[in-house]
This record gives sequence, structure tokens and C-alpha cells, in this order.
Amino acid sequence: MQPEISSRPEQLPKGAEVRMDVPALELLIEALRERGYRVVGPVLRDGAIAYGPVNKVGDLPAGWTSEQNPASYRLKRRPDNALFGYATGPKSMKDFLHVSEIRTFAAEKTDGLFWILPASEPPPRYAFLGVRGCDIAAMLVQDRVLIGGQAADPFYEARRRNCLIIAVHCTEPASTCFCVSMGTGPRARNFDLALTEFADSDLHEFLVEIGSEAGAEILERIPVTIASTEMTSRSRALTDRAGQAMTRHLDKDRAVSLLRENFDSPQWDRVAERCLACGNCTMVCPTCFCVTFEDSTDISGQRAERWRKWDSCYSLAFSYIHGGSVRSSTKSRYRQWLTHKLSSWVDQFGSSGCVGCGRCITWCPVGIDLTEEVAAIEKANSAARKEDS
Ligand code: SF4
Ligand code: SF4
Repeated sequence: MQPEISSRPEQLPKGAEVRMDVPALELLIEALRERGYRVVGPVLRDGAIAYGPVNKVGDLPAGWTSEQNPASYRLKRRPDNALFGYATGPKSMKDFLHVSEIRTFAAEKTDGLFWILPASEPPPRYAFLGVRGCDIAAMLVQDRVLIGGQAADPFYEARRRNCLIIAVHCTEPASTCFCVSMGTGPRARNFDLALTEFADSDLHEFLVEIGSEAGAEILERIPVTIASTEMTSRSRALTDRAGQAMTRHLDKDRAVSLLRENFDSPQWDRVAERCLACGNCTMVCPTCFCVTFEDSTDISGQRAERWRKWDSCYSLAFSYIHGGSVRSSTKSRYRQWLTHKLSSWVDQFGSSGCVGCGRCITWCPVGIDLTEEVAAIEKANSAARKEDS
């Protein structure tokens, strides 16, 4: 049904909701590029829908979706031409803001002295298109860790400072998602603009919510019209349905004390029999932030560099302290990861370290599911209490 629309006022205030069609989305991408943003959004890459450079609507994964299960990810054709009809893929904004490898400095020897070289180029200014509520929540989790605190990272902050967030509310979660439990989705919050996509056979359009002055400004020259209340209701209904479709759940408040009190649960031994300590879960997790530093010099001894690289609490070297690794077993490393993520992270940073995106479940090669692990620890805990009483 063609929604009722009225014409657009001259100035769009924060909180306004407007209607935009696909040609206008093309103009929006153009406007972002003209303002110097590098537009990053969903693209088909390496058999998945991942974030990458988007220069035009044609770069988006029209008509593609994903089917996700523990240890399984498959691309699938959709019955329509939706541009954003998929759940989160392996990459997140972390890949662009807290990059996997960065040179923190270089120094060259001149006249017998080492001189620090200036950074080669200014940090990129990103506009993230199509990001989901869970990913925005993950970015805010990383903000709390990497901006201002003890682990402040100037490279992260420089990238984060000027970025623009164009969310797309999630209407088709994967079977591995549980953002409702973590309070991070499926409706996005803390955006500059948020889109709801309607890819009906006769009409392909978007409801656009304006979340900031920067979002309103970028829409200034884009042909949009005031949205009807019918569009707003449809958007709400789609995200409500997406929330109800999620089958995985986790009690995030209970997990804090449960993990703190179950350091010796027999479930840690059971999960360690399956876990490969590969670190995949930490690589795809949009909140994991651990890094290591590597120094190198060239063969002439004239130039030295320091690189910061992602590391993982699953690597043996990560907990190496003089004389050996503190966490030498797979059991201790899995326990560290899960307990930090869902419990001690709250003590350190005031929020959970998990946003319920489900990536660690999809991309774990043996399909370990943290929601099932927490449930199993709860079950073992209850059984132990019954025995004691
Ligand atoms: S722990 Fe898993 S579900 Fe939670 S944010 Fe990280 S990848 Fe997503
Ligand atoms: S839980 Fe899965 S992804 Fe994470 S280290 Fe173990 S095997 Fe790898």
C-alpha cells in the first residue's frame, strides 16, 4: 500500500522521521563522499556479508541474506532485492576503529640519533552505513575501554571522534543472535540516522529517523518527504517481530554473580574438551580489545618500528609472565574469556562485555555457544547446591 506522505519542511529537526527511496539513498552515499567520509557498509566478500568500502548503492548486497547456526555461515538468495536484509557478518566497526594492525611509531637514525617520524597520514573519517543496534552498543563498550581510561588508545579515539553512524534496524536476526537479552537491539539507538528498509515488490523505500544534528545536516540536500505514521508503525512491528523471533537467551544480570561464584565448575573441564583455543571468538567479537606490541628494526639498524596488533586471551603467550604462562590450560583460557566478558567486565567498565551479536557462536569452528555454557554452569551450580543441602 502506498503510504500517505506530506511534503518536507525546510529544516529537519533531530527526532524527525522521513521517507527516502533508493535513488535518494544513492544521493546520500554521494553526499557522504563529497563531505570527505569513507563510506563503509555491507558488501559481499569472501563468501560472507562483511563491512567494506561502499561507493554506490550497487556495492550493497542486494537480494542476499545469511543463514547462521553454531559453526555455520551460509550466503543465501532472498526473494526480494533488500539491500540490508541479513544479520551481522564476521566484521564489525572494530575492524575499522580498533584496527587489527597499526604502526604506533617509527624512528630513524640520523647523525647518530634516533628521530621519531610523524604519522604518515591523518586518521580516516568513516561513515558507517547499515550498522545494527548490537554493533553500535559494542562500539560504545569499546569507547568506555579505549577512550579516557587506563587503556586509552589515541589511534582508536582519533578514528572514533569524527565517525558518522547510519544504522539499519534489524528485522531478520540470525538463529545465533540474542541482542534482546543484552538490551542492545533489534532497534538501534545512539545513531545519526537510522533506516528501516521496506523492500516490498511494488515499492522499495526507507523510513529514516534523524538522531543528531550531523544526521539532519547530511540529509539537507537529499529529496525526502515527511514519513506517515503508518510507516512508523510498520517499522516498530518489524523490529518487535525480530525481537520475538530470537530463540537464544542469556540472563546478563545473573551471569555476573554466577560466573564469579563458579570458578571451579565442572563445566569448565567439559567445554575445554571441545575448545580448540583458536581465538576465533575473540577476533570476531566486536568488543574484545586485547592487543600486543611488536618492535622491529631493519637490517642496517637505521630504522625501528613499533606495531600494535590484536591479541587474544586464548593465546599461550598472552598471559606469559616471567617464568611461564599464567593460564597454561585451555580450560583456564576459556574460563578467563567467558568470565571477563560476562562478569568481571561489569566490575571494570560498568557494563557487560557482550552485546549479544552471536558472532562467537557462528564463527566458533566447533560451535561452542556461550548462552549454552552459561546455562550448563547454572545447572551444575544448582546440582551442587542440592547435594550440599
Ligand atoms: S561475546 Fe559473542 S555474542 Fe557477545 S559480543 Fe562478543 S561475539 Fe557477540
Ligand atoms: S570457543 Fe570456539 S572460537 Fe573460541 S577459542 Fe574455543 S574453539 Fe576457538
